[in-house]
Amino acid sequence: MARRRLHVDGIVQGVGFRPFVYNLARSGNLTGFVTNTSAGVFLEIEGDDPALDRFEQRLQDELPPLARIVAVESMVIDPVGDDEFTIRISRDTPGTSTLIPPDVATCADCLREMRDPDNRRHGYAFTNCTNCGPRWTIIDRIPYDRPYTSMAEFTMCAACQAEYDDPDDRRFHAQPNACAECGPQLWLADGEGHKIESGDAIGAAVERLVAGRIVAIKGLGGFHLAVRADDDDAVRRLRERKHREAKPLAVMVRDNPAFDDFLRTPQAPIGLLRRDELPAALNEAIAPAVAPEHRRLGVMLPYTPLHHLLLDEAILRGIPALVMTSGNASDEPICLDNAEALERLAGIADNWLLHDRGILRRADDSVAQLLDDEPLFFRRSRGWAPVPILLGKSEGAPVLAVGPELKNTICLLKENRAFLSPHVGDLENLKTYEFFTETTEQLQTLLECEPDVIAHDLHPGYLSTSWAREAEKQGKQLIGVQHHHAHLAAVLAEHDESGPAVGLILDGTGYGLDGTIWGGEILVGDASGVERAGHLQTLRLPGAETAIRQPWRLAVAVLCDVYGPDRGNWPDLPWLDRRDVGPVLQILERDLNCPVSSSCGRLFDAIAALTGRWGEVHYEAQAAIEWMSLTSFTEVARAEPWPMATRATKAGPFALAFDEVVRGVGEGIAAGERWGSLSARFHATLIHRLTEAVVRTANERGMDTVALGGGSLQNELLLRGLIDALQAAGLRTLRPVQTPAGDGAIALGQAVVARARLD
Ligand code: ZN
Ligand code: ZN
Ligand code: FE
Repeated sequence: MARRRLHVDGIVQGVGFRPFVYNLARSGNLTGFVTNTSAGVFLEIEGDDPALDRFEQRLQDELPPLARIVAVESMVIDPVGDDEFTIRISRDTPGTSTLIPPDVATCADCLREMRDPDNRRHGYAFTNCTNCGPRWTIIDRIPYDRPYTSMAEFTMCAACQAEYDDPDDRRFHAQPNACAECGPQLWLADGEGHKIESGDAIGAAVERLVAGRIVAIKGLGGFHLAVRADDDDAVRRLRERKHREAKPLAVMVRDNPAFDDFLRTPQAPIGLLRRDELPAALNEAIAPAVAPEHRRLGVMLPYTPLHHLLLDEAILRGIPALVMTSGNASDEPICLDNAEALERLAGIADNWLLHDRGILRRADDSVAQLLDDEPLFFRRSRGWAPVPILLGKSEGAPVLAVGPELKNTICLLKENRAFLSPHVGDLENLKTYEFFTETTEQLQTLLECEPDVIAHDLHPGYLSTSWAREAEKQGKQLIGVQHHHAHLAAVLAEHDESGPAVGLILDGTGYGLDGTIWGGEILVGDASGVERAGHLQTLRLPGAETAIRQPWRLAVAVLCDVYGPDRGNWPDLPWLDRRDVGPVLQILERDLNCPVSSSCGRLFDAIAALTGRWGEVHYEAQAAIEWMSLTSFTEVARAEPWPMATRATKAGPFALAFDEVVRGVGEGIAAGERWGSLSARFHATLIHRLTEAVVRTANERGMDTVALGGGSLQNELLLRGLIDALQAAGLRTLRPVQTPAGDGAIALGQAVVARARLD
């Protein structure tokens, strides 16, 4: 007889890991025990050596779908001769290393039970098991045990308790286990928040939806605002009340064989699906106001029992799809509890579908599309956060990185794990800033780690930077990280590459080392440092921030740069007569409030605005996305690029000139050429000219790897084209797969750079 003690580290709590271990041990005729602690799962197994070896092998090979092992420590100890294998209750131990599990979409077994009229969970909106259900959003602290969750106030009935205690049951130690007898309840409230229906709350809610009303629905990581997707007036009403004029809305629909498997993963993200590949019946059921001007539609499947029941009922009553958008006003964070939602969503929602299970942490829906069968994230949040990104290197001091201003996330780097927070949002209003400070504190508390080092963006005006400055007064060490350096470092880190590499960072806005706004950058280096080898020619932003909301000003700026200030020399663009061009030319001439920027995003805006179509935009990148939507992969591949001259700059790095692009697009529009073909040539130009510049840079420096990052690479035509062209030129390409290409990855990059600087 031999005995071993195993310490298993990873995502091993709340994922059915202990019953799995229990069954594995029993099937191998081993004795011993398994227990959950805040430091991970510990187990002791006793049997003959070959059986113990087999157990350790199967532990790795047959892991439950949601579990993830980071490390197993195995130690030989003296046999004690127990009679059987048991599961011991959790005990608290200091030194947290257990990973907090993410929320998991409803599993097939639970769904079957909910739909079975003979099952005791028929129609119950909070059904879950060890394979599915809420986790991150209900956990107050670890270890993950019911008393430390928002389920603590519900006492299990005898039937639920029996399931919970039975190692052979799917609900063995399922912390949120509940049924209609003992668990959370639903009710529908009127516009003032008064309860009007609790018996058939779902039926009553769907009745309102059928009538075109807006219903606020308390979900998993916050509230959604729902409206029937086939009613254009209702969708417009939602847009008006939410002040969301143009940004596309996502829909929740029943599963369809035409969808990618990606939608069916336990993370259940919003997948951006091509409209031309959707079933015709679904396309027809989507009102034009849902996603105007877009070739893709954000689609998600129901991921909680409540969503399933709601959609089942909606379909029964003839509504095939529901618009489900985050329950917030404009750019504020998603609402959390009933009182908060009733206050902040008053005037938006006509009715409220509420329940009494507390949401302890916000989690917005994640958004991604597939590119070459791998995700391209727009937002990494519910389902992924807070699962860490594993870095190869495990040494180094812990670092807290506070992220950028827009699409903020926070990163806590501890050992070899980078814990990237759920999406926080744009730090432009008080509510989001409060969410930012709340998230920063929660991450440190949950992970029992308060780093002495804080990494932040170089931009002095960012709220996250100000927060870091305050922390400095409390004795923290600050490390400022240049925005595009962070983009490069994040891509290298998630691929476990140390570099050096060429970084092609195509982005919106980032504070540069020279105090100007960067954003179309060719960098060389690694986490410890970079050099700016080249960039896109700078353009001027007449009126600074105003020019971001009014791209026609950027169009005027590039026309002025290329043709001079005399409008008589410009291409004949009719929209110029409808705009107040004179004052803009004046501030350009006097160089007043006209910051320069090498931003790729702004170049997209300027070029798209030459059409006159995107004179004003309602959200960042609207012009770029809709300009991209006019063309396609095949058209871009066939399009003839314009030249981009390489110019030396005084500061050192080369600049790629856009004169020919402005001439090509401007004169093309004046001549009545199809916008789609101009968009294709513009994309082809960036792809070919940037590739040439990167290849030249890589050859000069003896490098063979290119790291691609930045928000402009959420443009699939640009990203796809660049990857193809760079690989055809013999370079290895790395692109963001686990993190967004945009600023959702900045905190990760900041953390990695800060640690490299400390070494
Ligand atoms: Zn389940
Ligand atoms: Zn019960
Ligand atoms: Fe960025």
